[in-house]
Amino acid sequence: MLTWTFLGVGSAFAKRNFQSNVLVEAWSQGPGRQEAPDDTLLIDFGTTGPLALYALMQRPGFEYLRTGGAINYPAIRRVLVTHQHADHIGGLEEMALVNAYTFGDRRRGRPFKPQIISSISILMNLWDHSLKGGLNAMAGRYVLLQDYFFILALNLSEPDRNHFTMLKRYDVSLFPTDHIQIERKYDWPSYGVRIVDGQTGRSLFFSGDSRFDYPAYATMMEQADVCFHDVQLFDQPNPVHALLTELRTLPREVRAKTWLYHYGDNWDSGPFDDVPQHFAGFAEPARRYTIFE
Ligand SMILES: [Zn+2]
Ligand SMILES: [Zn+2]
Repeated sequence: MLTWTFLGVGSAFAKRNFQSNVLVEAWSQGPGRQEAPDDTLLIDFGTTGPLALYALMQRPGFEYLRTGGAINYPAIRRVLVTHQHADHIGGLEEMALVNAYTFGDRRRGRPFKPQIISSISILMNLWDHSLKGGLNAMAGRYVLLQDYFFILALNLSEPDRNHFTMLKRYDVSLFPTDHIQIERKYDWPSYGVRIVDGQTGRSLFFSGDSRFDYPAYATMMEQADVCFHDVQLFDQPNPVHALLTELRTLPREVRAKTWLYHYGDNWDSGPFDDVPQHFAGFAEPARRYTIFE
């Protein structure tokens, strides 16, 4: 079984919801029948990620995420980074430091290391431009990304190296998204995620942060059993997210299975009350969606 839980569903600047980060859990039996999933994957961990995980661990069914009164960070086995905005990576410094200092093997001076997954360009830039400042020093030495994480660098141009599996069953792969263009499409790296159940062929589509780009996603979205799509509620020229007005033009069958996420704090102010009639709805935070049985 594969389950999908948003730590938050908010935009980068949302205050009523946490940022749009996701906990993916793979189970041999299922929640209720085992204490903890067999494998866990965080898709992004933004600045509000630690507080969101702290809130989630207090909910029934998520007890394995806590130890005493604190977050049990080693319960997170892998973290996938879709791109470098702070609402997607701002919690990684805390995760790395707590894994190193609280959960590490102190006698041998070794941190607990989860796996970190992204394209090589994101991983290089993530360290050089974002994480290095706070993480490169430990008492008596300088350290690197690989001192905190086992690195899995995916290569989108090589089909064999663009995916990994959870429980040898769920195939997780990245695809490029049109989030921000410097000069041309895809020249600032950002990714969406597709998960295929190798046993049944069923699939999930997750847009990541992306402008509206249905021609690029049509095949994946049509094939998918469930879709999660980035949305921006207000119109704007040259946006970096998919506008609700654009998403309303999706084919009806696609809309019906598409949950919207990454939305602003005014989702329940009135003008968007018809969203559940036209889409699967606004994705809910801290709700464990069963994706594959
Ligand atoms: Zn974002
Ligand atoms: Zn972004």
